[in-house]
Amino acid sequence: MSFSHLGLSDKVIGAIDAAGYKTPTPIQEQAIPHVLARRDVLGIAQTGTGKTAAFVLPMLTMLEKGRARARMPRTLILEPTRELAAQVEEQFDKYGKNHKLNVALIIGGVSFGDQDMKLVRGVDVLIATPGRLLDHSERGRLLLSGVELLIIDEADRMLDMGFIPDIERIGKLVPFTRQTLFFTATMPPEIQRIADNFLHNPVRIEVSKPATAATTITQLQCAVGREGHEKRDTLRRIIRAAENFKNAIIFCNRKREVALLHKSLISHGFNAVALHGDLDQSARTAALEAFRNGTAKLLIASDVAARGLDIPAVSHVFNFDVPHHPDDYVHRIGRTGRAGLTGTAISLVAPIDAKSVQAIEKLMGMQIPWMGEPAKAETPESASGEPRANRRPQGERSSERSGEGRGSRGGRNRGGRDRQPRQDTAPQDQAPVPVQAEAKAPVEQPQPALEQPRLRQDNRQEPRRRPDKSPVRASQPQPKREPVADEPDGSHLPAFLLRPVTIKSA
Ligand code: AMP
Repeated sequence: MSFSHLGLSDKVIGAIDAAGYKTPTPIQEQAIPHVLARRDVLGIAQTGTGKTAAFVLPMLTMLEKGRARARMPRTLILEPTRELAAQVEEQFDKYGKNHKLNVALIIGGVSFGDQDMKLVRGVDVLIATPGRLLDHSERGRLLLSGVELLIIDEADRMLDMGFIPDIERIGKLVPFTRQTLFFTATMPPEIQRIADNFLHNPVRIEVSKPATAATTITQLQCAVGREGHEKRDTLRRIIRAAENFKNAIIFCNRKREVALLHKSLISHGFNAVALHGDLDQSARTAALEAFRNGTAKLLIASDVAARGLDIPAVSHVFNFDVPHHPDDYVHRIGRTGRAGLTGTAISLVAPIDAKSVQAIEKLMGMQIPWMGEPAKAETPESASGEPRANRRPQGERSSERSGEGRGSRGGRNRGGRDRQPRQDTAPQDQAPVPVQAEAKAPVEQPQPALEQPRLRQDNRQEPRRRPDKSPVRASQPQPKREPVADEPDGSHLPAFLLRPVTIKSA
């Protein structure tokens, strides 16, 4: 099948040729004719499947007829993060190079004024994050009653980020008769409910099961203690010993962990950048660019910030924290082993992660091999909170107790695991030495640029984490807007938990 059979316009076909694409991907082949026939589409597809072009290409064809009016966009694409929104805009630049369409990006973190000017000029394609879009609408600067086509992209991530109420509000502002395309990587019941609300008699297209990880990915797990400094130490060792290492994305569950690990890796001489919701837009863009162009070899990210980003040729993915939800594991490791390239995904697994790993293995339908010794099972005695001589100072530990991403699905694991007494199995000096059990390719030294010139001694104490001083209130009337999308929401700890505790050494 070639692109010319899908009903796309000549201008679009010209741009596809220029992009060098020869054949449509399965989601493109299946979705494009239905989009052009004005059907609603439910697309269950992960990033990397070509799903963006599956809606951008027919949109360009459809938008060739008609003109935009001031403050009344003709089409609306909702994205959960600014980076994804910017990425979609880039695709319009690429595929829409033969068109003269007005495309506007309405995202948080940048000036209202410039966005407003674009809206006044009339917009054919409005790409937006939900919060900023509603801000413009509430100020009366934007009318959604002219939207002919609505695209909700990465719907399950919208759910994770607490954007569903915003999406539902936006759904009431667009005309009932519009066409809707709805993309999600997974289909939890809440997403099914939203899809049922938004879509009318949709064509359902599923291009790969959520649990299908590329066969080109070697997956491993490595046992660690749960203390942050032990995990960081193990991670450094693994990176330094990694075979065929080119670059890596390191995932943490919380943005504070992202910031801490970033600082730590820099202090240990690694060439690393961080991506999390607290960074301003220019810092996020600069970090991504440095990673994409190879200046930075390590990108430390939260799920929310990294979701859906198109970063080709990542050799390694590390789960510094095991994700609480198995779908996130699939998304994370899918950052490597793309487009037929091989990749390695290594998870650092503390005893407390046993249940999460079980769920992941169940979803993946496989057992993930261990590098070195398996993690010891957590026993009631080991979980009893007996103090150990080599524990970290209490102040640092207590500050690590926080929940996970704000608004996560159904509040799964919310703060629960961190309320249990802490326990460790692997002291720092016994951290497992990574074994490349699965490596088949010849040994290759890490590229010199991986580590920057040492700034400080390796044995320098890790930067300390301070207790969270701005706890999120338990009851918030509305989900906060996008800048704090991955804010831990279990961090509203009672004061007594944050009080220093004296631990007697054994
Ligand atoms: P997406 O799943 O939309 O993030 O797309 C993943 C990558 O695939 C992007 O870099 C696209 O430029 C690329 N891509 C999309 N469609 C095709 C195609 N038909 N052939 C080759 N590459 C494509």
